[in-house]
Amino acid sequence: MTSHILGTKAITDRILCSWIRCKRKAWLDINENHQRKIWSAHRALQLDHQYKSLEQFLNNVPQKGLKALKEGSDHIVGLRLKGFTPLGLSIEGHPLLLQKINKESCLGKFSYIPITVRQGHRVTRENLLSLAFWGYLLEQLQNIEVKYGLTISTASNGLEVQKILLTKKIRTELFDSLKRLNKDIYKEEEPALIADRKKCTLCSWKKLCDKKANQEGDLSEVNGIGAKRKNMLQEIGIQNLKDLASSRSIDLSKKLRKYGEAHERIASKLINQARVQINLRPKFLGKNKIMPELEFAPYILIYDIESDPDQKHDFLHGFTYIQRRKSGKWSLDDAKYKPILNIENDNEKVTWRKIKYRLKAFNGLPILHYGETELLSITKLARRQGESDKEIKNMTANFIDIHARLREGWLLPVSNYSLKNVSQWLRFQWKYKRSNGAKALLCWRQWKRSIEIRHKESNKLDWILKYNEDDCIATWKIAEWLAFNKNKS
Ligand code: SF4
Repeated sequence: MTSHILGTKAITDRILCSWIRCKRKAWLDINENHQRKIWSAHRALQLDHQYKSLEQFLNNVPQKGLKALKEGSDHIVGLRLKGFTPLGLSIEGHPLLLQKINKESCLGKFSYIPITVRQGHRVTRENLLSLAFWGYLLEQLQNIEVKYGLTISTASNGLEVQKILLTKKIRTELFDSLKRLNKDIYKEEEPALIADRKKCTLCSWKKLCDKKANQEGDLSEVNGIGAKRKNMLQEIGIQNLKDLASSRSIDLSKKLRKYGEAHERIASKLINQARVQINLRPKFLGKNKIMPELEFAPYILIYDIESDPDQKHDFLHGFTYIQRRKSGKWSLDDAKYKPILNIENDNEKVTWRKIKYRLKAFNGLPILHYGETELLSITKLARRQGESDKEIKNMTANFIDIHARLREGWLLPVSNYSLKNVSQWLRFQWKYKRSNGAKALLCWRQWKRSIEIRHKESNKLDWILKYNEDDCIATWKIAEWLAFNKNKS
């Protein structure tokens, strides 16, 4: 092995994964104060998925460390492997899991292959390079080529296991990536924000990066600008929010024409959105009576679903009723929250009967929801339960998508129009701080697991119900603002 020639610390598999996700993340992991990181429910969900996949894959408890490996245990965890790349970079890996195979090595009549957990169906670059990283270090330990590894992932139809060949091409890509990574993490200046900021939802540096994006007027802060559009705008000389807000619609349309009609058409909307965000004032788009249904309705029903997408399971149908007072006013003091839990996915028949009863009781009255999920889910559920198209149409005729109405009528000074963002702009406070859909899903999975092991954590379920009730109230707050605010300048 060559000696360590670059950098001061060993490059770990964890830093490599960070770097693959976002160069800035790897730099922050090395150079920033870790107390500035935040807990991420999305990350906790990934770990939960990892735990479940491993649990399903393993028949026995895996053994720990080098001693277990030398003794030839079937599965090994908690091993730390060190080595150097051909270029002399010091590297250190902590394989998630090793599996024994019947192939002779210097350890005996056996050797090991690495295993990683895949999120979703697609094998990512992160999966490939992690396996290659561990495979390379393992080779040095067992003195035999590691030709393949495995990715595993639990899904609604069981455990998926995939064999991944660790080819020469992947190995070359690994060394090339490590070389570039080593340069990036020791740079003086912190790298730019990732172009696709959707990926930031998973990241523990999100708060820090949101602040930077906001201070710098990063284009990703403008609703409607994703990674691709941001690149286009930068190519034509628009670098930030200010540049965009001061553009002329006709000029921007012309410049965006070469990227396609969709981009050309959206120019004036982007400029107006940027101006609203700079002025911090909402802009009315001139459509009168955005919520006419609320003028005379005696009741409204608000509907919000919580789901586990991996299991294709809508586990909670939250409904909140509000009755209009005799004075004609609406008050949240009169709101009643009535959830329907669908604990087991195979018990849909009973759930549907309850939902149908509720929808029928509200026939002709407004049913408010935020986004298209509720209508899509209820339509699919009704179809699965054998309802006719006509019946489904009748039952959902009064569904009102508050998000769609908002987008038709207003531009708001928010970077995205999610329920959380918009209702927080209206100063609505969730009962629990830092609550979001990912945390609700995490609580659900923890609660389900606690039932399985007969140690029911009822506070988790209470948390989910409170969160869902708050989602309903937030939906109402936005609907109320759309219907009754007079600020239509
Ligand atoms: S929050 Fe986004 S930009 Fe910041 S480090 Fe994480 S992924 Fe990169």
